Amino acid sequence: MAARLIDGKALALQVRARLATESAAVLAKIGMRPGLATILVGDDPASHQYVKSKQKACEEAGIYIDDHKLPASTTQAELLALIEKKNADPKIHGILVQLPLPKHIESRVVLEAVSPNKDADGFHPYNFGRLVEGSPVFEACTPKGVIKMIESIGVGIEGKRAVVLGRSNIVGKPLALMLLQRNATVTICHSKTKDLAAVCREAELLLVAIGKAKFVTADMVREGAVVIDVGTNRWTDGKLCGDVDFESVSQKAGWISPVPGGVGPMTIAMLLENTVESAKRMAGML
Ligand code: NAP
Repeated sequence: MAARLIDGKALALQVRARLATESAAVLAKIGMRPGLATILVGDDPASHQYVKSKQKACEEAGIYIDDHKLPASTTQAELLALIEKKNADPKIHGILVQLPLPKHIESRVVLEAVSPNKDADGFHPYNFGRLVEGSPVFEACTPKGVIKMIESIGVGIEGKRAVVLGRSNIVGKPLALMLLQRNATVTICHSKTKDLAAVCREAELLLVAIGKAKFVTADMVREGAVVIDVGTNRWTDGKLCGDVDFESVSQKAGWISPVPGGVGPMTIAMLLENTVESAKRMAGML
């Protein structure tokens, strides 16, 4: 392997250790810990597992967890009433509504009901708009984690040619905006992009979030590029893999993030960071 590894797991542990200290400082100042309300509707096993990992990480960082597991039969009105209660609860500094929600509930309505001041996931249109404007408050966790990963290796973002594969509202678009804000020259690609491989080969920073197992191969990568793989897929052997063909791309890239152990742990760390930052803002510590 020629490329150096961007170890998201190790970086996330450093971030979480710092946040534990910051949580303790919040407790010392206002007599309560940063608090995160987690709301999960239904029985999806993967969602239960995600929420459990997030809660464990929060507890280790001294964040108070207010856990709500609701049956799949919960109505939209009941869910909105709970969110309203959490919006008004002074012990809560962040609210996480785990997606996907059952089909009878409109995710957009629910996410917009979360107070923009407690939007730990950074999905509220107000916070998205602030990012577009270049003055973000809460930033979406996954792209925020990707930016920290690039920053951690010291290659710099300013002036770099960045290509983002994928234009979802939770990863691709906010990531492109965060790169732009840091003065990269950004191209966003999607399923209708023509000659995708040629566009990708121009990238000094190649950020991939499309949800297609091992889609990006070495012929699509510029020699020495920084490649960050957001994808989470199952390969034919059942093992977790990214959107990047790690084996071939790691021979050509300068830096590469693995799956697992790359963006995933950083996404959780950024949820914690958003919660602690929110508590610090409310405590007048920021
Ligand atoms: P999404 O909403 O499904 O969006 C996928 C994007 O990829 C779309 O913009 C789509 O283009 C584009 N795309 C699909 N096939 C393509 C192709 N062949 N060539 C070029 N572009 C293509 O996905 P998402 O929510 O952003 O997630 C992407 C991946 O990241 C998934 O594997 C997801 O599981 C993973 N993920 C991981 C984390 C983490 O914490 N590790 C967090 C979030 C997501 P169109 O817009 O034209 O359809």
